[in-house]
Amino acid sequence: MGWDRVIGQERIKELLKRSIAGKTIAHAYLLYGAEGVGKDALAIEFARVLNCVRGGAEACGECPSCKKVDVLQHPNIQLIFSLPVGKSEKSGDDPIDVLTQEQVETVREQIRLKAENPYHRIEIPKSNFIKINSVRNLRREAALSGFEGGKKIFIVSNAEMMNAEASNSLLKTLEEPPPETVLILTSSQKEQLLSTIVSRCQLVQFDPLSEEEISKALVARLNAEPEQAALAARLSYGSYTRACEMLSVDMVTERQSVVQFLRLVLGSQKIPLSLEIERMSASGDRSAVERWLKLLQVWLRDALVLREQGEAGLMNVDHAKDLKSFVQKFPHADLIAALGRVEDSIALVDKNVYLPLVLTNLVFDLKEAIVLQE
Ligand SMILES: [Zn+2]
Repeated sequence: MGWDRVIGQERIKELLKRSIAGKTIAHAYLLYGAEGVGKDALAIEFARVLNCVRGGAEACGECPSCKKVDVLQHPNIQLIFSLPVGKSEKSGDDPIDVLTQEQVETVREQIRLKAENPYHRIEIPKSNFIKINSVRNLRREAALSGFEGGKKIFIVSNAEMMNAEASNSLLKTLEEPPPETVLILTSSQKEQLLSTIVSRCQLVQFDPLSEEEISKALVARLNAEPEQAALAARLSYGSYTRACEMLSVDMVTERQSVVQFLRLVLGSQKIPLSLEIERMSASGDRSAVERWLKLLQVWLRDALVLREQGEAGLMNVDHAKDLKSFVQKFPHADLIAALGRVEDSIALVDKNVYLPLVLTNLVFDLKEAIVLQE
């Protein structure tokens, strides 16, 4: 298995294969696009190809070098990501040596998960940014020559997480790229990177994956039932990781709860609604609330599609009946505004705003956008 370890993204694979064949590999790449479309996965595969001892535009998967990349333990390949700051960490310290034993274990475990599934998003508690010491380490290592003649590859995952110090330090490396070194930055928030960093990288834009690519991958990689896979792919907006997340929750129940919530919002009973908000906020699980808000978004988007174009483009195909009665009951609803308010709520959940407040405000906004237009 070679490039097919990366789902879809054929245009980008071709581009990289051509640059390998033509020996026109850039010093630095910025792989950007939505979350969960395979930026890190592609960066890792590219690194594997560039170090495969058999050469060529595809990794053999069998040589010692390929095997080392498989477990993310290759001396030429370094993955850089957000880490916690160590107690009394000083400038120049090794970014990992300063961590507690427990934190080091977590880092190891996360690397293991990433090796197993390159679509895994590395999450380490208390790691809010990419540290300057991680970039200093990169600069130090980049100055050394590569192991067994291969290229040194540094993958800065979610590069927008670099703080100002780290960004400035990386900029220096980009200004004077060391020989036989390839820097690969990945980001779903390119606009948050320094423009001086962006301008020094070859830009590679990732497209969302197609529903077919996602559902096929879910069946092949996770043994998902085809129907479940198709629905998760529909609700994923082209992101494989979001589709995996959808698959891991009880989507039928979650979508029912969206419909139930809308019924309460659009009805006139106040008590059940406040109980519902209480129930949703109780766990304090922000990612669950966010996922739920996204399902609400998909549902409202479906109402808009149904009203403007008819049934063909629906995502919640099995909810067509509920959607129709909604559209008939509220023909003048300002659904664009409603979708905007849900988007705002998602941003607030991300910013740690008190959940009951976010949901209560959302109820008022939805009433205004849907009911008061009638
Ligand atoms: Zn190989």
